[in-house]
Amino acid sequence: MSDINATLSAFPIFIKTDGKRATIIGGGEEAYAKARLLAQSSAQLRVISEHIDSDFERWGNDKNIEFLHVPYHRELLAGSALVFAATGSETADRQVAEDARALNILVNVVDRPELCDFYTPALVNRAPVAVAIGTEGAGPVLAQQIRARVDQMLPPSLGKLASLAAYYREAVELRVPRGAQRRRFWSSFFGGKVARLVEQNSLPDAALEIENLIRAQQAEPEGHVALVGAGPGAEDLLTLRAQRLMMEADVIVHDALVPETVVSMGRRDAERVAAGKRKGCHSKTQDEINDLLVELAQSGKRVVRLKCGDPLVFGRAGEELAALRDAGISHEIVPGITAACAAAADFSLPLTLRGVASSMVFTTGHDLKGNSLPDWARLAIDGATVAVYMGKSTAAEVSSRLAEAGLSPDTAVAVVENASLPNSRLMHGTLADLAVLSEFDDLTGPVLTIIGDAVAGADFEGSEPLASRRHTALNAVIQQEAAQ
Ligand code: SAH
Repeated sequence: MSDINATLSAFPIFIKTDGKRATIIGGGEEAYAKARLLAQSSAQLRVISEHIDSDFERWGNDKNIEFLHVPYHRELLAGSALVFAATGSETADRQVAEDARALNILVNVVDRPELCDFYTPALVNRAPVAVAIGTEGAGPVLAQQIRARVDQMLPPSLGKLASLAAYYREAVELRVPRGAQRRRFWSSFFGGKVARLVEQNSLPDAALEIENLIRAQQAEPEGHVALVGAGPGAEDLLTLRAQRLMMEADVIVHDALVPETVVSMGRRDAERVAAGKRKGCHSKTQDEINDLLVELAQSGKRVVRLKCGDPLVFGRAGEELAALRDAGISHEIVPGITAACAAAADFSLPLTLRGVASSMVFTTGHDLKGNSLPDWARLAIDGATVAVYMGKSTAAEVSSRLAEAGLSPDTAVAVVENASLPNSRLMHGTLADLAVLSEFDDLTGPVLTIIGDAVAGADFEGSEPLASRRHTALNAVIQQEAAQ
């Protein structure tokens, strides 16, 4: 991530080729490869060489390429916009590069980056859309691999869709108000039904759909709120739907636990509002957040309310949904990977295990106040796997209450801080060991605890035993007391 702003020593641009000449010096395989690439543009291609491979010439004759069977001479470059030296001889290529430069013509020399004014990219062509991939000559194979992946991602009809967009651009500018409405129009155009109809080659239906879309955008914009699960923190655990909505959002209202790297995956000029809510530093109350969502939607904005994990698990979604419902605001929910699943994955720990655990409890340590046992204690004793959210400060209480309810103090426990992230920390032990968790001052990230017999089957490699941490913690307390 940190390398994302590294400096390029060659900057990609698109050069207009209509009515321009590109000259290739050489008639062998390398010249042929350049010609194939350039023939995808409208440049007038001229190939100069005394010897030209017959395959090359046969192919080129169909493409209106001009072949000059003459020895190279500097004068022949005059009038070219681009020159490619591909003679197969280093001395001859050097000469071509020198001549082109003397004539102020940009030159590319095959396999000699140091002699090039520009490089040619690996190209995905969906004219008028082009994706050009460059590696500054460092890895042509890498460029080809990326090209193959991009090629797969883009439907063959993309060029047609882009041409259709160009055709409608003026009408849209006249009829759809600029700003959010126009952005929304294009977003639906490229990402919705129009694109699908073009892909199916149903152009008359696509035209009807475009007309509908234009009409829909002429009406007052309707706000919308999506409660979106951002997953446990790793960027690639965000769902495709979440990312699409973030790319279409006018505003992204996010919790403090959603990492910046995930928030920044949204549309670059979407407004971002940090709604805070980290333990101990509530920057907005829940009521303020509810009001904010309603106000934003009422002003016609498309809002993504981004919450860590899954929005419906300990995410105060109930209150936000009620506020949206009361205000009659259109809304949707996008599930995300909840922390319990991410923590279990980090431990290779099956949450349900045939013959051992056939039910799961998602709970929090925060409802343990009072004397009554939590309603899920019975389930834990009957073998359910228990995932405790927000349980760091209440770990001692969870441990003693479950023991009190009759759960064996030897029951296996797994603890994950920052599940799914590169700085994740794994700890394991027993229910009895869990009591010390709240004393670990170095656990500053979100922590999830999993308790149950299914945990015993986890992979504890790379995990610290809680018991050893317990000694360290106890020693620290003893030392502190001794010092007082
Ligand atoms: N909606 C979220 C939970 C929000 S409550 C979800 O579905 O995951 C916040 C609690 O979630 C934290 O206190 C912690 O217990 C847990 N949590 C969220 N992200 C976590 C992560 N990456 N690693 C461990 N626990 C996490």
